[in-house]
Amino acid sequence: MKEIQNEGLVYYQFTSFDPNAVDHAIFSRVGGSSVEVYTSFNLGGTCGDNPAAVIANHEKLFKVFGRSFSSRFDVWQVHGKTILFGDEPRPPDKKHAPADGIFTDKPEVTLIMRFADCVPLVFHDPVQRVVGIVHAGWQGTLLKIGEEAVSAIQKRYGSRAADLHVGLGPSICGKCYQIGEDVRQQFLKAWGSEADQFILREPDGLYLDLWGANEMVLRQAGVGQIENPRICTAENLDAWYSYRKEKGATGRFAVVIALK
Ligand SMILES: [Zn+2]
Repeated sequence: MKEIQNEGLVYYQFTSFDPNAVDHAIFSRVGGSSVEVYTSFNLGGTCGDNPAAVIANHEKLFKVFGRSFSSRFDVWQVHGKTILFGDEPRPPDKKHAPADGIFTDKPEVTLIMRFADCVPLVFHDPVQRVVGIVHAGWQGTLLKIGEEAVSAIQKRYGSRAADLHVGLGPSICGKCYQIGEDVRQQFLKAWGSEADQFILREPDGLYLDLWGANEMVLRQAGVGQIENPRICTAENLDAWYSYRKEKGATGRFAVVIALK
């Protein structure tokens, strides 16, 4: 990923995405208005932070990103596998719909999602001109939300899987993400023999490799290009929020994408 600094914010871009076709940014936690455990660029409105700071952070994000706040399309991320299409910005008086994948082919719409350990899957189809963001925690990964997204945009936009570029944003790595036997059992039940290669047994317990699991799901769906910079949220708390490492007392960083 490429690092960019602007007005005190530090954000990143996937190098495989064409900057002439798409604007995108993965904003680190640096340079915002929030304090204490939310320090400082928290975009999460439901994690206990001061609402005034969260609003100030949103305003700064859209200013630096160069798009209007009113262009945003966002959802209530619920760890399912529902994919929604943002054909227009979300009106301010309309409630967030529950979903974990959002796509658009409209340049006037800016997609935004929030993360703290779950895997951001950022999509660009340079042929059909479609962008999207998917939120894949263990539950979305179990449900193969990456495959669900590929299938949804094939139907909706005529996207070909081989044309797709997908970037995996900062998220918790397999060495840091301890799980219980219950989660392993759910993967074994849903995935059969494919599950065990992503569940590592260490002396202190079981660990889940969300990156490897999502890469396999995307490859099986036929995705042409996958970029994974392998940045672990739990190991880089100066730059990223980690729900697991910070025991829930933390903020959310933002992933934003729009067509030019
Ligand atoms: Zn890690």
